[in-house]
Amino acid sequence: MAVPEQTFEAVAQSESERRASPECILVVEDDAALRRLIEKSLAANGYRTCGAADGKSALANLGDCPPRLMLLDYSLPDMRGEQLLERLEALGKHVPFIVATGHGSESVAVAMMKRGAYDYLVKGPTFMKLLPVVVGQALERVRQAERLSEAEERLRRAHEELEQRVRQRTAELAEANQRLLVEMEERRRAEERAIQHQAELGYVARLSTVGEMVLELTHELNQPLSAICSYAQACKRLLGGNGQRPDASSVASDASDGDPVQELSASLNQISEQGDRAGEIIRRLRRFVNKGKPLQLPLDMNALIHEVSGLMNLDARMAEAEITFELTDPLPLVVGDRIQLEQVLFNLLRNAFDSLRESPPGGRRVSVRTTLDGEDDILVAVEDNGAGVSPEVAPLVFDRFFTTKPAGMGVGLSISRSIVESHGGKLWVGPAARRGAIFRFTLPIDRGE
Ligand code: ADP
Repeated sequence: MAVPEQTFEAVAQSESERRASPECILVVEDDAALRRLIEKSLAANGYRTCGAADGKSALANLGDCPPRLMLLDYSLPDMRGEQLLERLEALGKHVPFIVATGHGSESVAVAMMKRGAYDYLVKGPTFMKLLPVVVGQALERVRQAERLSEAEERLRRAHEELEQRVRQRTAELAEANQRLLVEMEERRRAEERAIQHQAELGYVARLSTVGEMVLELTHELNQPLSAICSYAQACKRLLGGNGQRPDASSVASDASDGDPVQELSASLNQISEQGDRAGEIIRRLRRFVNKGKPLQLPLDMNALIHEVSGLMNLDARMAEAEITFELTDPLPLVVGDRIQLEQVLFNLLRNAFDSLRESPPGGRRVSVRTTLDGEDDILVAVEDNGAGVSPEVAPLVFDRFFTTKPAGMGVGLSISRSIVESHGGKLWVGPAARRGAIFRFTLPIDRGE
C-alpha cells in the first residue's frame, strides 16, 4: 500500500473545497456490501459518489456522473481493471483512478501504477481507514495536475502569442529593411547623379580655363611653329642652292661646319623636334579637356606637378611670380584619375597666382612641395605669399559658388575638394608662415590593392 504523502490535516484542509462543489467519485466494486460501505464513507467526507458493480455499468454511468476520480476494483466479474481502462481510452475518456486490489496482489498494484493509477489500496484491515486519505491525496494530485495543465496551456498560449508578435515584428523589420534598401538605392542614385554633375561641372570649369589659356597657348604654340617656319625657310634656301646660309640664330646646329647636306639634315631634325613639341602641347591640352570617365591608374604626383606647371608658365609670368618646387623624390605612387588630379593642381596654382595680384612685384612667390604624410599618405602643399585667406573667409572657400573675384566662378575649390575626397584624401587651407595661404592635400599611397 502506498505510504500516505499527506497528513490528515492537509486532507481536511481541502474539505471546504469539496463541500462547495462536491466531486463525483465513481466506485467500481462488485462486492455490493463493500461498495455501499465505501460510498457511505466517502459521502461522510463530503464527496458525491456513483456506484458500479461491473465494468459495463461503470462505462454506462460515465454520462450521468462525470467522475473526477474512479476507485477501481481490479477484479470485476465481466472484465479486468486494465480492460476497463482500455475501453475508456478507446472512448477518449481520461478518468484519473486509484486501484483496489485483494491482499497479496501487490504486483497487480505495481502494474496498475505503471498504467497511471494515482494510488492503490489493499483490501485489508486498514482499507476503510485509509480510504478517505488516499482518495483525498489522489484528488489533490488530480487538481494539481489540472492546475499544471492549465498553467501549461496558458504558457503555450503566451508562447504562441509571443511567436506571433515575433513574426509580426520580423515582418515589420523586413518591411523597414526593404524601405531602407529602397532609400539606399535612391541615395546611391542621387550620389551617382551628384558625381556625374560634379564631372560635368569639372568639364565646364576646364573648358572655361582653356578659354582663359588661349593667350598662353598661342604663345606656347607660336614658338615651335615659328621655329618650324625658320627651319623650313633654311631648308628651302639650302635646296635652292643660292648659297645663302640660314640665319644662325634660328638654326641651332653649327655642327655641320658648312656641309649643306648636314645642315639640311640638322634643320629637318629641328623641324621634326619642334613639330613634336607643338604636338605635345596640343596633346596635353586635349588630355586636359577630355570628357572621358574617370580612370584609376597609378600616378606619380611629382610628374603631374611638372606637367601642370608647364601649362601655367604664362600665368606665372603674368603674375610676375617665381615658382619653386621642393619635391620629395622618389615619391610613392598614388592611384587616381590623372585629369582630375591635374585639375586640382591647376586650381590651386591658378588661385595662388591670382592671390599675388595685390602684392608688390619682385617678391611674389609660389612654392609647391611634396612629402610623405605618415605611412599611408603623400602630402602636396601649394603655398603663396599673396593676400592670404582670412579666418572669416576660410570656412567658406570650399563652398560651391563662393568667390571674391570679380570674374570668379567659385567652383574651383569645391570641385578640388570633392576630387581629393573621392580619391580618399583631404584638402584644407591654412595660413602661410609669414604671409599668404597654404593649400594642402593628401592622397593615399598606392598599395597595389
Ligand atoms: P574662384 O577662383 O573662381 O573664386 P575658387 O573656388 O577656386 O573659385 O576659390 C574660391 C575663393 O577662395 C576665391 O575667390 C578666393 O577668395 C579664395 N581663395 C582661393 N585660393 C586662395 C589663395 N591662394 N589665396 C587667397 N584666397 C584664395
